[in-house]
Amino acid sequence: MKFEMPILPYAPNALEPAISKTTIDLHYGKHLQTYVNNLNNLIQGTAFENATLEDICKKADGAIFNNGAQVWNHTFYFNTFSPKGNTVPTGVLEEAINKAFGSFENFQKEFNAASVGLFGSGWAWLSKDKEGKLVITKESNAGNPLKSGLTPLLCFDVWEHAYYVDYQNRRADHLNAVWSIIDWKVVEERFVK
Ligand code: MN
Repeated sequence: MKFEMPILPYAPNALEPAISKTTIDLHYGKHLQTYVNNLNNLIQGTAFENATLEDICKKADGAIFNNGAQVWNHTFYFNTFSPKGNTVPTGVLEEAINKAFGSFENFQKEFNAASVGLFGSGWAWLSKDKEGKLVITKESNAGNPLKSGLTPLLCFDVWEHAYYVDYQNRRADHLNAVWSIIDWKVVEERFVK
């Protein structure tokens, strides 16, 4: 199977000022494109030649996992954002967040702590476990909760390429801005699925 670039559901400048067009052009246009190209080259003639991206995330290792999971993670990441509104969870997702973390504010505090505290490159994740309970996990490099049997709902990319152009070393400032562009309706659809 030949993997293709996901289509962004917004214009490259639509997330400004939280994420600049320059960062989208580099992060989506260059970094993600490279992962897609690498993956398509790497799977040729292997057991993963016709696998889905989900299967690659769950079963592959080494370079195929790294590039495949990065394609999955970035597709999921870029699809979480919206330039307008839906910036707080509602309905059953709001209830689940309150149950697991006490309040939305406290969830944000814990998710920020996981994201800021992740050493080096990686991802912070909000996922649903098999019992429907919400959990925050940290993954290094291309790490993805699908491998642990979790259902991912939300992720923050804390690789420097996600923020260095706009925020330099200020990872926390970048993450504070990202809260304003999360489309919680998208997160809720993932939660109830
Ligand atoms: Mn990235």
